[in-house]
Amino acid sequence: MEENAYANALAQFDKAISHLQIKKGIADALRHPKRELAVSFPVKMDNDEIQIFRGYRVHHSTAKGPTKGGIRYSAGLTLDDVRAMAMWMTWKCALMNLPYGGAKGGVVVDPKALSLRELERLTRRYATEISLMMGPESDIPAPDVGTNPQIMAWIMDTYSMHRGFSVPAVVTGKPVEIGGSLGRVEATGRGVAVTMLQAMRLRNIDPKKCRVVVQGFGNVGSVAARLAHDAGLKVIAVSCSGGGVLKEDGLDPLAVSRHYEEAGCLMEFPNSDFVTNEELLTLDCEVLILAAIENQVTSRNADNVKAKIIAEGANGPTTPEADEILNQRNVFVIPDILCNAGGVTVSYLEWVQDLQSFFWPVEEINRKLENLMLRAFENVIESGQGYNVPSREAAQILAIQRIADAIMIRGIYP
Ligand code: NAD
Repeated sequence: MEENAYANALAQFDKAISHLQIKKGIADALRHPKRELAVSFPVKMDNDEIQIFRGYRVHHSTAKGPTKGGIRYSAGLTLDDVRAMAMWMTWKCALMNLPYGGAKGGVVVDPKALSLRELERLTRRYATEISLMMGPESDIPAPDVGTNPQIMAWIMDTYSMHRGFSVPAVVTGKPVEIGGSLGRVEATGRGVAVTMLQAMRLRNIDPKKCRVVVQGFGNVGSVAARLAHDAGLKVIAVSCSGGGVLKEDGLDPLAVSRHYEEAGCLMEFPNSDFVTNEELLTLDCEVLILAAIENQVTSRNADNVKAKIIAEGANGPTTPEADEILNQRNVFVIPDILCNAGGVTVSYLEWVQDLQSFFWPVEEINRKLENLMLRAFENVIESGQGYNVPSREAAQILAIQRIADAIMIRGIYP
């Protein structure tokens, strides 16, 4: 049960809502997605066989605007995972004051097991299957684990072919050549770095004495590691799904990225030691960045985490049971809905640029991103002080209240 993401999302929700005076009916509505679509669809494989795939798209809330959320390609994906991530997207957008509700989608597939042509056919068919839920004014997907800008380009093209004209604003995280935003690729990792540095100021951690460990060296983790290194922190260990590398006197994340791209794994990075992912989580350090997948810090290992700050680049990497332990131990957790909100924030900026057909330079994007992240960080700290609760609860209280207010102001139809 500890590792069911939806059960965890509901446990967090119940905890946060206990502080709020929200009508029971509204709270009940927010415990469930607004709508869910499950599809089975055929794809012609390169060997001429037909394979059936399962896909999902879930909209959690539409109270504040169109829904927004990534598309994940993963062999282990379940509908409960998608529900949880859609709910977290609602809270994340509300926390950042973006005019969106939350959504999430995905296909049960290991994308690495497909050829590029199979991946394109699967993507175009999945996009067609969910097109009744998708649109620039209704639901705007983005990349997540296992998907990338190229896949967003295929989704944009498929949707545009059906409409008969180009609709760039239907997805974000697209390549810049077709209406993507500068700064979007780095946005989530950049937001992680901004919030991490704020948390360090709050906890009086000297950057020169700060050791950082990063679990997950993909889009989010590698950018966060590079920006931490640029800010003068010592990145001592990083990992991917196969394990990680440790170097006590500091790694150069750019050199590690080059090695990862060439070798396809982190192992055997020169002058470093191998660490398992389990060992990595409990290394002696000041900041632990979780940038891989859900349920990594649990009741089994939370007692042994030595970091003073946990930055949740991933969605749902800490279970509610682990949260209790970390709170008792006074570990500062930058909750996922704040820490990794840089991605959806620049996705929002991308969508705005697409709608106005006028694009901003990267400096402007990064400035807007940093301002929005810092304001949300401050709001979470104030909420935590006001309600006397830890940061995750503080962030969720704020977000849930904003959504409940929106529902009440709109009124219940009819
Ligand atoms: P990615 O696929 O680029 O990278 C994921 C990394 O995690 C890879 O290096 C992979 O090897 C590693 N990994 C997977 N399982 C692992 C395990 N058990 N232990 C250690 N490492 C493991 O994905 P990403 O886009 O960087 O996303 C990472 C997390 O951040 C996900 O939870 C995602 O939902 C979240 N997130 C991503 C974005 C975004 O804009 N990309 C935005 C918000 C949240």
